[in-house]
Amino acid sequence: MGRKPIIAGNWKMNLLKAQAKELFEGIKGYVSQYTAVELPTVVIAPVFTSLSAVEDVKCDCGCGGKKISIACQNCHWEQSGAYTGEISVEMAKDAGCDYIIIGHSERRQYFSETDEMINKKAKAILAGGLIPIICCGETLEQREAGVTDSHIASQIKAALNDISSEDIAKSVIAYEPIWAIGTGKTCDAVEANRVIAMIRNVVKEVAGENAADAIRILYGGSVKPNTIEEQMRQSDIDGALVGGASLKADSFNEIIANTMKTMA
Ligand code: PEP
Repeated sequence: MGRKPIIAGNWKMNLLKAQAKELFEGIKGYVSQYTAVELPTVVIAPVFTSLSAVEDVKCDCGCGGKKISIACQNCHWEQSGAYTGEISVEMAKDAGCDYIIIGHSERRQYFSETDEMINKKAKAILAGGLIPIICCGETLEQREAGVTDSHIASQIKAALNDISSEDIAKSVIAYEPIWAIGTGKTCDAVEANRVIAMIRNVVKEVAGENAADAIRILYGGSVKPNTIEEQMRQSDIDGALVGGASLKADSFNEIIANTMKTMA
């Protein structure tokens, strides 16, 4: 059975509440003309303080799906306690989130997140009934040194360590070459697909064939309305994690529209 594509917008540290609401309304207005069956899984990830300005949008066609789901951009693995500045999985769920992005390269780089922390977060998210979007990716130096595959395989093995095959099957991975994030340099679609197929093989090694077939693996890095169709036509790319182009309703909606062309 085919994997349903995901188009996820990572709003990063942008947009005040009123702006987040306006962007949300722009996306909601667009997706309202479709059913959740026709749409990819659409996810938006505002900052914590704007979670109250957006809401998930349930489909009314009887499919039980959502036209828009909500993610937050980080969480702690503990349930509560003396962790100033952090939020727990239960708090994210309470704020309406179905997904939590973890291991984004900006968090690894600026906030010293390690593979071990990302693994603890993934376990806590799955235990709390939410879905982790686990990011991985190589720097330009690593790519030029020819260690892209080994680096990413080790990030994925560490992130999925000691997680059941059933939980891995539900999870989402985002392959985001760091040199492509926010730079306008999109990774060639065929090469992104090659790395994503390699990631799927790693998942097969650690969790078996069913999990590898089911897990959704996204590409992220300067995705734009005019790049998504070629990316989505690849065998192993199941959607996109979109940064800059998710901050305007027009471009995000166009990415959704162009994804739908590949779902027919
Ligand atoms: C991201 O931050 O996850 C991202 C892919 O950003 P951009 O689309 O702006 O490259």
